[in-house]
Amino acid sequence: MSLLLNGLAASNGIAIAPAYLLVGSDLSVQKQYTNDKNHEVDRLHGSFALSEQELQVIREQAHQQLGQHAATVVDTQLAMLGDPALFDEIKQLIQKDEFTAEWAVKKVEDHYLNIFEHQNDNDYLQARATAMKDVAKRLLSHLLSVALPDPKKLDHRAIIVAKNVTPTDTAQFNRHHVAGLVTDTGGRTSHFTIMSRTLSLPAVVGTGNATKQIHDGDLLIVDGIHGKVLVNPTEDQLEHYRLLAGRFAREQASWGALRDQQTVSADGRHFEVAANAGTLDDLEDARNNGAEGIGLLRTEFLYMNQSKLPEEDEQFAAYKRFVSVMSEQQVVARTLDLGGDKRFGLMSLPEENNPYLGFRAIRIGLAKPEILRPQLRAMLRASVYGRLAIMFPMVATIEEFRRARAILDDEKEKLLTEGVQVADNIEVGMMLEVPSVAMMADLFAQEVDFFSIGSNDLIQYLFAADRGNARVSYLYQELHPAVLRTVKRVIDAAHAEGKWVGMCGEMAGNPLATPLLMAMGLDEFSMNSNQILHIRALIKKLNTRKLQPLVHRALDAKTAPEVTRLVREFVPDLKDE
Ligand code: PEP
Ligand code: MG
Repeated sequence: MSLLLNGLAASNGIAIAPAYLLVGSDLSVQKQYTNDKNHEVDRLHGSFALSEQELQVIREQAHQQLGQHAATVVDTQLAMLGDPALFDEIKQLIQKDEFTAEWAVKKVEDHYLNIFEHQNDNDYLQARATAMKDVAKRLLSHLLSVALPDPKKLDHRAIIVAKNVTPTDTAQFNRHHVAGLVTDTGGRTSHFTIMSRTLSLPAVVGTGNATKQIHDGDLLIVDGIHGKVLVNPTEDQLEHYRLLAGRFAREQASWGALRDQQTVSADGRHFEVAANAGTLDDLEDARNNGAEGIGLLRTEFLYMNQSKLPEEDEQFAAYKRFVSVMSEQQVVARTLDLGGDKRFGLMSLPEENNPYLGFRAIRIGLAKPEILRPQLRAMLRASVYGRLAIMFPMVATIEEFRRARAILDDEKEKLLTEGVQVADNIEVGMMLEVPSVAMMADLFAQEVDFFSIGSNDLIQYLFAADRGNARVSYLYQELHPAVLRTVKRVIDAAHAEGKWVGMCGEMAGNPLATPLLMAMGLDEFSMNSNQILHIRALIKKLNTRKLQPLVHRALDAKTAPEVTRLVREFVPDLKDE
């Protein structure tokens, strides 16, 4: 009988193929004590050594099959395994509490997951949580002498169905055999979701219980556009989806031709469609997807997994690479956006009851010039190699912006006095993420060169709803009239002062928001690279003038679903989005 499962549309496209269940043996462990602590520590040593050997092999495969990014993911696990602190922490539990090695591993895993997983919209911490789980699984498989599921065994074209897919699983697949992915858990920023987008594999994640409902060999349709999985579909369903798959493939092929084109609407208005980047790999993706610039360079990657602050020269080299590769296209570099959801690594941030409302981003930068100043110097030095703009995150008041800008000007003066060249046309702007700024946008617009709307944070602050808390995620509504009114207010205020406005939150890559943002006059859309061609194709079809009545009605609407309905009515191309 055919069955429908719902999940999250994680990676675009439609796949039709048999299921291949990748479900491992039971690795659950019980609390147990030992009377031979030395023996347990020896076993722990053994499992660390074997895990490391295995990961070295997987790393090589990952590098050959999937490139540097996949290898780096395995590196994170190797670094964890090689970190004496992790080993010592587990060993301590064996020696002090007399736990078995298995139970000690489990305890330490739980401890870290508790810290990492509560930040479930934060890519870095999610990556660390995934790495921790993968490492613990591998250690336990050796301690329990249980084999992990072996993705290499897949020898025919199939859709992988798994509880979740670990980075090391991904690294071992023969990518020609994988048609799509379905998982029980996971979100839009999980490692395998990102990987499936990079490999253009249709994926539906977070189905809850797909591994229980699907059997090996069941015929599946994975609809990664709408987040649906059809198990053993009917002939009619198959026919419908074959048509959809054909249309999607044709659309995708046509997007390829847009790679080197500018983004101009049907009525001749140019919009800049740029990429968000947070690593050097993203730079390659941005180029491959025809980005017209980097609208948000998240510089946090330079600070992750480091035992000390990155040197100015190291930062300079990274920024220089971005601006020189993008050449005459603009790179908007954001100063360190630490705190809130991004609490990794080298700086022990104070425990706070409300970290999202606490000591974060530019607040840290202003309080700790030893962080902000070298970063700004590195950016300024890189500015002569291309077109660099600089922006500050989470600014809430005009004084904050002025203080940050004054530090920038001061560093520029110093560099010039030292005889170091600095570009003289660097635009200086800010993220618009705090409602107080939206209220004062007219006055801020007199001081900044541009705004970049950080819709992810702006929406959480508008609705007073933590962006990472699943219980209140119903309040996170990009198409809500309150968001649209705020965005409109900001764009109008900036334009009145002759300044440009970009958007670099997820909303910028949401096709349902595109007609509204275009009609309101947003100048730059910055998004995950794999959305660029889709959005460009859409913008090229739309006429901003004809969309004006849509915007008026959307701004007068009372709810987000009302706006969604209006958009679908006005733009029939979006009825399936
Ligand atoms: C945002 O808040 O929309 C944004 C782009 O910043 P981040 O997601 O890095 O907080
Ligand atoms: Mg933000």
